[in-house]
Amino acid sequence: MNRDTICIHGGYTPGNGEPRNIPIVQSTTFRYATGEAMGALFDLEASGYFYTRLQNPTNDRVAAKICALEGGTAAMLTSSGQAANFYAVFNIASCGDHVVASSAIYGGTFNLFAVTMKRMGIDFTFVSPDCSEEELEAAFRPNTKAVFGESVANPALSVLDIERFAKAAHAHGVPLIVDNTFPTPVNCRPFEFGADIVTHSTTKYMDGHANAVGGAIVDSGKFDWTKYPDKFPGLCTPDESYHGVTYTERFGLAGAFITKATAQLMRDFGSIPSPQNAYYLNIGLETLSLRMARHCANALAVAKYLKNHPKVAWVRHPGLEGDPDYALAQKYMPKGSCGVVSFGVKGGREAASKFMAGLELASIATHVADAKTCVLHPASTTHRQMSDAELEAAGVSPDLVRFSVGIEDIEDILADVEKALAAV
Ligand SMILES: *Cc1c(COP(=O)(O)O)cnc(C)c1O
Repeated sequence: MNRDTICIHGGYTPGNGEPRNIPIVQSTTFRYATGEAMGALFDLEASGYFYTRLQNPTNDRVAAKICALEGGTAAMLTSSGQAANFYAVFNIASCGDHVVASSAIYGGTFNLFAVTMKRMGIDFTFVSPDCSEEELEAAFRPNTKAVFGESVANPALSVLDIERFAKAAHAHGVPLIVDNTFPTPVNCRPFEFGADIVTHSTTKYMDGHANAVGGAIVDSGKFDWTKYPDKFPGLCTPDESYHGVTYTERFGLAGAFITKATAQLMRDFGSIPSPQNAYYLNIGLETLSLRMARHCANALAVAKYLKNHPKVAWVRHPGLEGDPDYALAQKYMPKGSCGVVSFGVKGGREAASKFMAGLELASIATHVADAKTCVLHPASTTHRQMSDAELEAAGVSPDLVRFSVGIEDIEDILADVEKALAAV
């Protein structure tokens, strides 16, 4: 099936007389006739459902659709994008380990890595996505367990050179984890360029309607953990908390990573989405390819309009000719990147505030990537407490406006922008 068709049919094929929609299995538990039958499940000897914190049929079917969209071998849903990135990294890195990460990543992920996981004893080295070969090489240590980056960074909108980072990771015997939230697999499939694990905040375009917070992890099944048993003992040696199962032996390269993340991390941390939320996510996925095409076309039109506007200082959108990452975007996501445009209004912080106040159709919201156009001025909201100098250090210029272009009629979006800029 092609990706547009997977969006509709992936992950679930109903039999005769069964529901056409993925059923919402709103049940915490599943019944068994004998204790032995259930015991086999606990030992991972048999597969089956017993408790929704570990697995649920609705969640699994939606995960299978995302798995097919990315071209992976196994996938799981999590209750948020934050949980997905935490699980993906923590599944292979523990206290005393080290991870190389792109510095152009979502603020929440940066905080998770640099503050919270640091407290767990995991060290991160952040490198610019366009760093030199020497800098990238120098970032690795003997205890490095993974490389992490975002295919299109939120909010920097820089594009990761996936092949380059995958090559560097593999040369050091570790996998590349790519957060593919912004382009989605409709526009970019990181596995085709050497990435090993993909994560998502499904809260964004996949859900697409600002309905449900959620996340996903997908494994390509290609990274051979067994070549580096000393680096990845959790996957290559017996798990005493699961009756001595060795994940790579029992589940192969195709299933080891996701089975371990489910059996250990979901069991112990429990960041499972509700089946109801997974259902909403699936409804969003059905129209993902249609919506992405419209988001990208609208965003490109907005970026072009802003580029020629005398009150606009600068514009960034990976699909805009002349953007520093235009060539990378053409290579990795030729159909389009995402619907987000960032730009600066001449006159800095004050001018940006005026622009925001003048918008009517676009709502001010701490969100991106849903059907409705929304806008955020970090300097006057999420980063409000920072001085101009501190903002600059955080990579957020005082005039930066993050404009998440929705799927409304482009004429109405442009008219709104035009009116708001006139008021500046
Ligand atoms: C929003 C976002 C996250 C965090 O996801 P939540 O669903 O809000 O927990 C992670 N990565 C990227 C790129 C995001 O945009």
